[in-house]
Amino acid sequence: MQKIYPCSLSPEEYNKIEHHSQVQCDTVCPHCKKALGLRALGYYLRWITTLLGALLRIRVRRFRCRNCSGNVSYLPSFALTYRIVHPQIVQDFIDGVQPTRAMQHWWTLLQAYRRSWQKWAQTLRQELGCAFGRPAEKETASDFWQRLRRKGGSVMEITMGLIKGWKVTLFRRYSCHQQTEQYQFSQG
Ligand SMILES: [Zn+2]
Repeated sequence: MQKIYPCSLSPEEYNKIEHHSQVQCDTVCPHCKKALGLRALGYYLRWITTLLGALLRIRVRRFRCRNCSGNVSYLPSFALTYRIVHPQIVQDFIDGVQPTRAMQHWWTLLQAYRRSWQKWAQTLRQELGCAFGRPAEKETASDFWQRLRRKGGSVMEITMGLIKGWKVTLFRRYSCHQQTEQYQFSQG
């Protein structure tokens, strides 16, 4: 399972101070709900981009529950699930702000992100109902994006809210945010 937590550091700062080693896990296991069961289980490596669009590899902290053997990893909010481009760059791209060099560098990938958003928007709108304000009649994906941005804040903030409240992201639903995989280890 993956959790995302608010992290005000830049990716560069996160690496510099080895922030992954300071991540605090939940006191209650998100799988079995037993208290104080989680213990550190190293980390995994993943790629992300900085705000300037440079590629950087970060370590993501991982824990395992003593009770149910379920895993939990804690992703800093500047990293989107399975997407390497920094959320601020994604936000600026879909908002339609003046292209930056970082945006231009990742343009093809950003277009793919936008297509994923457009494809997913209708399902997401149904899932959210009026949680981010009432949808206008015949609301387009673009209108919906603006409504989410108005009511939910930045892409980082919206993403944290969506994962916490609905177990989805701005682009799709991922199995790592669901709790259906809770017994993946005990079944084996
Ligand atoms: Zn557990």
